[in-house]
Amino acid sequence: MNKFTNKIYQRYRLLKINKEASNLSKHFSGYYKAWKEVKTNPKEHDPLKEEEQEIVVGEFEVFKLKTGTGPSGEIIIDEPKKEVSEDIFFKFLNLSNENGKISSFDIYNFVNRYGLLVNQPMGQKLLEEKYHLETLSFWRYEIALMNSLIKTYYNYQNENTEELKKIFIQSKKEFSDCFYRDNTYSSIETNNLKSNIEIFIDFHDMVSPSGNFLVEEIYEQLFARVLFQVLNQKLRQTTDTYIIETEESGKFRARDQRWIDIKSGYKDLLSFIWASFAHFIKTKTKINICLNNRCKKFFTSQKFTRAKFHSDLCRSAYARDAKMWELAKNKIMKKEGMMILDERETGIGKLSSFDALLLNEKNKKVLAMLEFSYSEIDHKSLKWNHIKHKIYRNLSHLYDKNKINHAFLINKNGKLFEWNIKKKIYGNEIQKLPETKDLAQSNLDIRRLVQFEK
Ligand SMILES: [Zn+2]
Repeated sequence: MNKFTNKIYQRYRLLKINKEASNLSKHFSGYYKAWKEVKTNPKEHDPLKEEEQEIVVGEFEVFKLKTGTGPSGEIIIDEPKKEVSEDIFFKFLNLSNENGKISSFDIYNFVNRYGLLVNQPMGQKLLEEKYHLETLSFWRYEIALMNSLIKTYYNYQNENTEELKKIFIQSKKEFSDCFYRDNTYSSIETNNLKSNIEIFIDFHDMVSPSGNFLVEEIYEQLFARVLFQVLNQKLRQTTDTYIIETEESGKFRARDQRWIDIKSGYKDLLSFIWASFAHFIKTKTKINICLNNRCKKFFTSQKFTRAKFHSDLCRSAYARDAKMWELAKNKIMKKEGMMILDERETGIGKLSSFDALLLNEKNKKVLAMLEFSYSEIDHKSLKWNHIKHKIYRNLSHLYDKNKINHAFLINKNGKLFEWNIKKKIYGNEIQKLPETKDLAQSNLDIRRLVQFEK
């Protein structure tokens, strides 16, 4: 397996460069402008809102790393390094979640582990002999592009033509022109990305059996062309080949002591990530999406092509979830006129403080919020007060917004607890769930959010 050694910094900081910034970020705003001039493509990597640009700063203090002095007085430095392997591109592209949100915190964690993308402390001149910086919009664009491509690769492998039709858009002006267009990432405000992912494809030389060049018959050719264009651009200056002088050590000779050697390697972490990604795609390796709903990361398994989970942690979380659902269904769904719905199916982040919704089966209005606990939590537990307040707080919020009045908590043993805003009940243990008629109905009609099977 291919490896790359990234030179790393001793410390990293995440900063926002804006008008009200502290002196520290003002200090970096000049550097940010200088860095932008040389390192980034303004069309792709510029933020939507310049004044909300985030940067990650690597700090390197060469003198702290001095370990000794060589025979001729030279300073010997022990450079901090991190060796990364090929599959790092999965960690990189999974910095975007399934909805396209790329959090600053996740990027920061990645930086802390593996270093910066294009900067390496001993490779380039340090600002004030100490700092290097990279903007998060630069990171986000590269992550978004790779995430978009793997998503399309997944849809290509699984022949999801409906999804592919959303991404390959035929030009209205010119018949033989088409765009690969993905605005998933730039449409998320916190990503602060200026541009959509948009790649122009000329398909005049492609083959269409029907002559109509429908996406469903030429998507493989379209996708191959996108990969050809993007990867060529990304790999154009991937490797450095350079010469070093060598010296034969040991016995002294009057001549033939020095010669040259050729060294070659990936230029930086970003190049290595794109090259590893290209190798993966080239071999048509099977890609999977983790079945754990809270994860949904892209991954591949060398042992099983039909692997379901990207980690053992996700496998056990899924099994635990399934067990709770069984329990919840037995305890609750037996009731006449009610149904429960996994909160994640609604796709609304605001409700994510709960696991599931209890619905009136007839009109699909929300009756209550459900929380599953994987522990034996009850009134005697140390954490009880914390849970009690958390559920109350989340429910109050939903009451103000949609008049959702009830919440229920079910623990591992099937014990049931009730919250009721109107009746001021906060976490009382109950023996069974009330009947539909005894629950106050909210004004949140879930059909606005979810497609129900007819
Ligand atoms: Zn997972």
